Amino acid sequence: MAKATFEVPELSQYIDVPAVTPDTMAHSMPFVAKPEIQAPLGFPGELMDDWQEKALDKMGELLGKYRSLRVYLDSCVKCGSCTDKCHYYLGTKDPKNMPVGRQDLMRKVYRRYFTLAGKLFPKLVGAEDFTKEVLDDWYSYYHQCSQCRRCSVFCPYGIDTAEISMAAREIMDSIGVGQKYCNEIIGKVYKIGNNLGLPGPALADTLEGLEEDVFDDTGVAVRYPMDEEGAEILLVTPSADFFAEPHVDGLIGYGKVFHEAGVTWTLSSHASEAANFGMFIGSYENMRRVAQRIREAAIQLKVKRIVFGECGHAWRVAYSFLNTLAGPWDFLDPRYPVPQHICEFTYDLIQRGKLTFDKGENDDKVLTYHDSCNVARASRMGDTPGGQFDIPRAIIRATCNHFYDMDEDTIRDRTFCCGGGGGLLTDDLMELRVKGAKPRVEALNNVMQEKGVTHMAAICAICKSQFTKVLPYYGMEMDQIVSLHQLVSNAIVLTGQDADDDDEDDAEEAA
Ligand code: SF4
Ligand code: SF4
Repeated sequence: MAKATFEVPELSQYIDVPAVTPDTMAHSMPFVAKPEIQAPLGFPGELMDDWQEKALDKMGELLGKYRSLRVYLDSCVKCGSCTDKCHYYLGTKDPKNMPVGRQDLMRKVYRRYFTLAGKLFPKLVGAEDFTKEVLDDWYSYYHQCSQCRRCSVFCPYGIDTAEISMAAREIMDSIGVGQKYCNEIIGKVYKIGNNLGLPGPALADTLEGLEEDVFDDTGVAVRYPMDEEGAEILLVTPSADFFAEPHVDGLIGYGKVFHEAGVTWTLSSHASEAANFGMFIGSYENMRRVAQRIREAAIQLKVKRIVFGECGHAWRVAYSFLNTLAGPWDFLDPRYPVPQHICEFTYDLIQRGKLTFDKGENDDKVLTYHDSCNVARASRMGDTPGGQFDIPRAIIRATCNHFYDMDEDTIRDRTFCCGGGGGLLTDDLMELRVKGAKPRVEALNNVMQEKGVTHMAAICAICKSQFTKVLPYYGMEMDQIVSLHQLVSNAIVLTGQDADDDDEDDAEEAA
């Protein structure tokens, strides 16, 4: 079990709504970005002298630009429906981690400066001055929201706390209070092309190594190409897929699927990142700049289609905003959706009987599936409602003999966040990440006890990284989290594959 410097919550069998314990997480705040990190993103380097005036100007601008923000701030009736729906409240007991409590941090400032009642009778309507103490609370608690949108599913008015968190972060960035983790990563994308700062030659080396490994395993020359002009498909995938476990096993799977489909494809060293942290910081301009790289790569490589790998928020940005951010895509083949998810691609081949699987290759696992928030609640997949839930499960069922869902209150559109989304996947927020993972880990633990589940599949790079890190805090193994296309990779039977290869490998291992 991983050692913690904080109290790791005890798992219970049912969702346990804790007693309110104020300020338990007031100390939790991520590192602040230094001026050299802020500058490439177009933000002031440090807290401005006239920060209050500038922040209120920005707030006014956002209220005018995003009508939804004003509606959300005006329409809460304090019904309490959302109070026990946030994983961070359930894991930390801090009332400012109740969605309504988090919203109120902005609502009280909004009322004070943007409503008549708040200007005249602030105390009566819960309005407060925007003081440095309030700003500190914003920095702390708007970085304790993974923008997962679970609360909005249960709010009778559909108030989306994620959007309020994004606006708060945008306002803070505009006055020089940025979050180091997110803003540094966006800077790496501008400079090098991906979140991890992996240069092209390192990527090429990795891909060459994958080709050798797959050939050794299967006897089939599956390609993992980069920067190949004229390929039919540009694959845009999270950079974690290039080297991290279990992400890279997913990338191996994508390559095998493309190979069997008989299509040409390529990765791009220029757009070697699907993730778009511009969304996490609420910055349209940075989101646009990151997305433009995909357009540039697609034009440069003369591809006809774009397929996204397994990444939750990347898929949200792609599915919901790619056309606005980087379109029009009229130079691509109109017969295919822009963009397409790798799960849609694989599922289509399965439906058409184009892939052969030996499910027995996954018989060492009993699977469950974690719906990633941004796929579940902020985008769709396929051409029927609920495709984002059904397509990944259909792929698992096609490739595995043993699959059980977790409790229905914790899956599909009610899924619990992994605890590391929304730009919080940083070690300086480890306490929050571990505590916030509690509801999901609890549901996983229940299905392990009741059904003998051994592994949980996911289609989000952040979820996979988060679970490898936090599962050990709960006495579980880091490799219990797997990539969905890892299961595909294990089970797929490649045309021309030496049927004896696996048996020989097994015999060698046994020896
Ligand atoms: S969006 Fe998610 S993390 Fe944020 S308050 Fe709502 S439930 Fe909590
Ligand atoms: S569920 Fe909606 S209306 Fe009710 S308290 Fe929460 S945010 Fe307000």
